[in-house]
Amino acid sequence: MPLTPLPSALSRRAFLTATAATTVFAVIRGAEAKPIAFAIHGGAGGISKDSTPPEREALYRAKLAAVVTAGHNVLKRGGSALDAVVTAIVMMEDSGVFNAGKGSVFTSAGTCELDASIMDGATRAAGAVAGVKRIKNPIRAARAVMERSPHVLLTGVGAETFAAEQGLTLVSPKYFGTEEGRRELERVKAEESKRPKVAQSVPAEALPRKLGTVGAVALDAQGNLAAGTSTGGMTNKRFGRVGDAPIIGAGTYADNATCAISCTGHGEYFIRSVVAHDVAALMAYKGLSLAEATQEVVLRKLVAFGGLGGLVALDRAGNIAMPFNSPGMFRAAIGADGKVFVGIYREDG
Ligand code: ASP
Repeated sequence: MPLTPLPSALSRRAFLTATAATTVFAVIRGAEAKPIAFAIHGGAGGISKDSTPPEREALYRAKLAAVVTAGHNVLKRGGSALDAVVTAIVMMEDSGVFNAGKGSVFTSAGTCELDASIMDGATRAAGAVAGVKRIKNPIRAARAVMERSPHVLLTGVGAETFAAEQGLTLVSPKYFGTEEGRRELERVKAEESKRPKVAQSVPAEALPRKLGTVGAVALDAQGNLAAGTSTGGMTNKRFGRVGDAPIIGAGTYADNATCAISCTGHGEYFIRSVVAHDVAALMAYKGLSLAEATQEVVLRKLVAFGGLGGLVALDRAGNIAMPFNSPGMFRAAIGADGKVFVGIYREDG
């Protein structure tokens, strides 16, 4: 094959200019063609219009809109899917409104024990913390585990020691929990005293009204997916119970090849159904679309199993799915059209 002669100084300049112009054009075209998308949840549960005072509903809707916009803004500025997920989840952890961070629900012993996880769809790196009592923002700790440790899941005091070493903010255990959470603990304890102690199937009326975990999924302009989840777990949990939120494949999963998923619901069922990975597997192995795979898992398999809850999901094309089988799920999304969607009940669409 004849070698291409090296361009002369003049023609090299022309060549470079043309290449640069082509590159700029490609970047602009790429930016136009590549969708960004962002979705969050603020928990699923027995939320109904009748049981939610209008001012409370307005507060949730406003918070969801602010959080989804903040996360989406990170993506609009060219930020990574991981940054968008962490930005949104930190806002929800700090708000005191959701069952995560400040607003975490109480254990049977009246303490707060928090779980969180994050996953990078580009590399399938993941990090998680479970049963932590002093880390202000567990999602930041999960990210630090992913990026600055050789491990995936750290628990309890060890996770707190690691977080402190990483310069993350630790707070007094008293920082967590709200008055509403205390009242919910009393209600759930009273309900529980009416039924047998050991059962993996729990009647719906005995479940906490506010499951309330938070989560986010993002697709950035580089085409990368990420997912994160953070929670105080379930009211009245005991014995160091850990739910699905910090379990990669159960409560959280992300893989650029398929989707990003963050779940909320009755964790024991989500762990036993390996919900988040099940959605990705249906897409990878059976070629189902995001909508088909999420509906199969949440509306068919989980319902048949008795698992209450839902999830938010995104694929690489920017499709969004937010199915739930509970009466309500706090959720919000901004898709390729840039419009803000906020929903709580089924009627919200
Ligand atoms: N999935 C969480 C857990 O079981 C609870 C929730 O989503 O509200 O810990």
